[in-house]
Amino acid sequence: MASYDIVIRNGQVADGTGKKLFAADVALRGDRIAAVEAPGTLKGDNEIDARGKVVAPGFIDVHTHDDTALIDNPTMAMKASQGVTTVVCGNCGLSAAPYLRSDIGHFMSLMVKKPENTSKSFAEFAGKVDAARPAINGAFLIGHATLRLNTMGDDLGRTATAGEIATMRDLLDQSLEQGAIGMSSGLFYAAANAASTDEVADVARPLGKWGGVYTAHMRDEGDDILKAMDETFEIGRRAGASIIVSHHKCSGRSNFGRMKETLPKFSEAMKQQEIAFDVYPYVAGSTILRSDMLERAEKVLITWSDKVPGMGGRDLKEIAAEMGCSMREAADRIQPAGAIYFMMDEKDVQSAMAHPGAMIGSDGIPFDVHPHPRLWGTFPRVLGHYSRELKLFPLEDAVRRMTSYSAQRFGLAKRGEVKPGFYADICVFDPATVIDTATFEKPISAAKGIDVVLCNGAVVWRDGKPGRGRAGRALRRQDLQKEAKA
Ligand SMILES: [Zn+2]
Repeated sequence: MASYDIVIRNGQVADGTGKKLFAADVALRGDRIAAVEAPGTLKGDNEIDARGKVVAPGFIDVHTHDDTALIDNPTMAMKASQGVTTVVCGNCGLSAAPYLRSDIGHFMSLMVKKPENTSKSFAEFAGKVDAARPAINGAFLIGHATLRLNTMGDDLGRTATAGEIATMRDLLDQSLEQGAIGMSSGLFYAAANAASTDEVADVARPLGKWGGVYTAHMRDEGDDILKAMDETFEIGRRAGASIIVSHHKCSGRSNFGRMKETLPKFSEAMKQQEIAFDVYPYVAGSTILRSDMLERAEKVLITWSDKVPGMGGRDLKEIAAEMGCSMREAADRIQPAGAIYFMMDEKDVQSAMAHPGAMIGSDGIPFDVHPHPRLWGTFPRVLGHYSRELKLFPLEDAVRRMTSYSAQRFGLAKRGEVKPGFYADICVFDPATVIDTATFEKPISAAKGIDVVLCNGAVVWRDGKPGRGRAGRALRRQDLQKEAKA
C-alpha cells in the first residue's frame, strides 16, 4: 500500500460539486490530492482524524481587496481562519498593478497602505506576491479605475479620449498576457463614474482574446439597478467575456424587495450569455465614507479615519451629536475615512444567495481599523447561519457556492473540488458547530468550528491559529489555462 504525505481520515467529504456527503479518506502528496478512497484504506506519514467532521475543498473568496494584504500580512489569518485558500483580488475597479503613480489617494487606500506594494507591471506584482510567501493563493483582476488613474491623471470627471482608451487597453492587454485573470470595473465610484459604457467596453476588449473575466461593481445598485445590469451585460457581451456582477444587492429602503425584479432578469440573461454574481451574507455594506451614501443608509458605522483617530467602530449619528452638527458635516470633518452602511433587506440577501447564479464573496476590507465583520466571518456564517440554522440551502450546496462553482466561473483550474489530481486546498470543519463570531461590535474574531485548513498541501490554520504552511502563490492566467487542458 502506497504511503502518502498526509491522509485525512474518517471524514465526510463534501467534494465541492454539490454531491451528497460521503465517507472517505483523502490522501495528499506534495501539493496535490492523490486519492479519495473508502475509509480505512489509505496510509499516510501524517494523519488527520476528521471523525464527525466535513472535509471540503478550501473556500474561494471571489470578491476581495486583499491584493497587498497578501504581501503585508502573509499569514492571511482573517481568511485562512474561515477555511479560505484562494482570494480573488482587484475587484471594484481597483488593483495594485499596473500602477504607474507614486501617490495613494483615498480610493486606492481601500486596498493599499504602502506605495511600494504596488507595481508598474502585473508580472512584477505577481513576483512580489510570490516572494512574500503568503499562506493562501491569490488570483488577480486589473481595475479599470486604476487604469484611469494611470492614464488620465486626476482629470477623471469625463469619459476617456480615444488615445487614453487605447493606452488603458494596452495596459490591460499586457497585464492579461502576464497573468491577470480579468478586469474589474467600479462605475459607482467617482474615479470611474464619468466613464461611458463605450469607454469600458473598448478598454475591456482584450478579455475575449485572453479568456479573461469581467467583474462589475455596477454603476447603480439602487433606483437604477436594472439599467446598470443592462450596461454590465452589454460590456461583457462586447468584450466577449464571462461576467460576474459583484456583491449583488438592492440598496436603500425604497429598493427593498426588488430582488423580485433583478433575479428573474439575471435568470433570463444567463440563458443568453455567461453571467453569475457574488453575494456576502450581511445586510450592511462597507466602503470609503461618502456623504452621498448617508441618506440611503439606516445606520452608518465608521471603520477608520486617518484625520480623527478613535472613530473606528463608532456610529456617525453619535459623532454628529457630539460635534453638534449634521451627519454630513461630521462626515466631512473626519474625512478621509471608511464606513459601514446598513442598507439592505434581509429577505433580499437570502434570495440573492439562494439563486442558481450566486456564489459567495466576502468583500472584506483588510486594513480597516474596525472592519465590517464579513472580513472574518463570511464563509462560516453561510455554513452555520444560513445553511444549518436557516436551511436556506443544504450544506453540500453551500460548499459548492464557495468552491467548484466559483473556480469554474473564474477559471481557477484544478481548484475547488476534493478529487485526485486537484490541488490540496482543503478545509476540515465541524458541521454541527461551524459559525462566525465576528460582529459589528467586535469584528476581528476568528470563526468557530474550522478545524484544519491546508493550502497546496501545507497546513495554514489549525487549532484556532495560523499553521506553519506558507505555500500560497499568485495564480497566473497562463498557468491556469494550461492546467485546464492538462
Ligand atoms: Zn464593490
